[in-house]
Amino acid sequence: MPTPKYSFIQEATSAPEVSFYDYIVIGGGTAGCPLAATLSTRDAKVLVLERGGSPYTNTTKIRMENFISTLTDDSPNSISQSFISEDRVPGNRARVLGGGTVINGGFYSRAETLFLKEAGIDEALANESYEWVEKKIVYKPRAFQWQTAVRNGLLEVGVLPDNGFTFAHLNGTKTSGTLFDKNGNRHTAADLLEYANPTMIKVYLHAVVHKITFTTKDGQRPKADGVIFYDANGGRHIAYSKHESNNRSEIILSAGAIGSPQLLMLSGIGPAARLRSLGIKVVLDQPMVGREMADKPSNGLLIPYPTHIPLSLITVVGINKTSNYFESFNGFDLSDLSGSGGAQPQSSNPSQEAMANSTTNQAFLVQTIFGPISKGYLELQNTNVSDNPKLRFNYFQAAVDLRRCVSGMQTIINVVNSDSLSRLRFRNMTTQDLINMTVNRAANLRPRNPNATTSLEQYCIDTVMTFWHYHGGCQIRKVVDRDYKVLGLDQLRVIDASTFSFSPGTNPQATIMMLGRSMGRRILQSRRR
Ligand code: FAD
Repeated sequence: MPTPKYSFIQEATSAPEVSFYDYIVIGGGTAGCPLAATLSTRDAKVLVLERGGSPYTNTTKIRMENFISTLTDDSPNSISQSFISEDRVPGNRARVLGGGTVINGGFYSRAETLFLKEAGIDEALANESYEWVEKKIVYKPRAFQWQTAVRNGLLEVGVLPDNGFTFAHLNGTKTSGTLFDKNGNRHTAADLLEYANPTMIKVYLHAVVHKITFTTKDGQRPKADGVIFYDANGGRHIAYSKHESNNRSEIILSAGAIGSPQLLMLSGIGPAARLRSLGIKVVLDQPMVGREMADKPSNGLLIPYPTHIPLSLITVVGINKTSNYFESFNGFDLSDLSGSGGAQPQSSNPSQEAMANSTTNQAFLVQTIFGPISKGYLELQNTNVSDNPKLRFNYFQAAVDLRRCVSGMQTIINVVNSDSLSRLRFRNMTTQDLINMTVNRAANLRPRNPNATTSLEQYCIDTVMTFWHYHGGCQIRKVVDRDYKVLGLDQLRVIDASTFSFSPGTNPQATIMMLGRSMGRRILQSRRR
């Protein structure tokens, strides 16, 4: 894969101690890269501060076949930072330029139009922005054997119509885009920096932002005016936004659904009592920062098969009328992801024999749900920005989420029994065998109740895993307004998945990149006025 040579991407150790920019973007991730690239195309100087390194250093690591091994690399310099939520479900967050697009499943699908209304994004601007992203980094996938079988299975059981290949969010079954090219090389949001004006942008890597600073003159709203960051050698730097001379300069937080609320709190914006208990000076008492955190729950079935089927990540999705989303991947050794819940029901012999056959001759057929309605919270555990905050998603707290999961699992069972999938999998394994096996191997640390193999409600609760679509914590109307400006403050916006009240589309990355591009254009328009 040709690696772009960006002269404007440098290690933060080369940053001056003090510098001045028109726009400072915190987090060079899925939203941050398209946003910064767009902002740099006019007369404004743009700085991007990214805590991770470059995705171009080791492109083998981010190829399709290394999806799981990269996620399970828990070393301090890993591009994936793992955490375990209070729900006892492990998760991962990106720590690399390009953010989640560097470690994710690559599946690319646009949002439902309802989302655009919620997010206050004009449809024409959204379409132009999606296309801007697609031209650079999105591919039509090749026909993988397993994905084709899943598509046919979904159609057989009535997830109709067959929508063919499309990026649009439509009920039925479709093939959508992928960030992987035909050779399995990943393209990422960092590639969108090719659109930037190299003379107007600077990107610092291993630049860990510790705090946003504010000026608070008597009687006026606090104004964000600078960002304190540390380089890989522990050197301290401060970058100021130039708003003393130009009232249009801004700081934009794009550190993701976990990073953005965390950094707001560390900067003194959040629930006052909690901040004070950690010794943080309160700039604005804002109890909604860190509230309404959510993650789409995912549940499914592991499906071993007897003969080799080429590995694939998600390229097909089914969307039914009750807003269950069905996706699958195959050919990965999932043992490192597997959890070790409490009292485990015994697995059946056929599944043990099947897995002894090969650790990679298996697929995971998974369903998730619209929303979700269940919400949790994020709280600081300490004042170290590199530590994970405390997270709880409260999976299935809302009864409607659980009902949707049960109905989605019934469809999964039907798909597994469809002719298309039955042809590929072990004939002697019943769906009950698959349920037993998945209860034992689901990637979480939750206790297993004895009836998890007999009640689909209990199955959903006990085997829930993350779909990695975290959102919330800085929601529109609660923490930011419809221009993504932080309520009660000046010169500070949040633009990333933390602003969502539900996760858009079947998978959010398309929409997060679209949001970055669209908001970049809107900010530039308001600059011209
Ligand atoms: P991010 O992309 O995470 O960007 C935040 C950036 O901020 C990161 O680069 C981070 O390093 C940086 N940062 C954080 N704190 C600081 C700080 N203090 N200082 C400096 N920098 C900081 N979505 C899909 O659409 N399709 C998929 O197939 C898919 N699969 C997924 C699989 C996995 C394993 C994961 C983790 C996610 C997946 N997703 C998928 C979800 C999608 O990738 C994310 O929702 C999306 O990338 C989040 O975008 P963001 O801009 O909000 O945050």
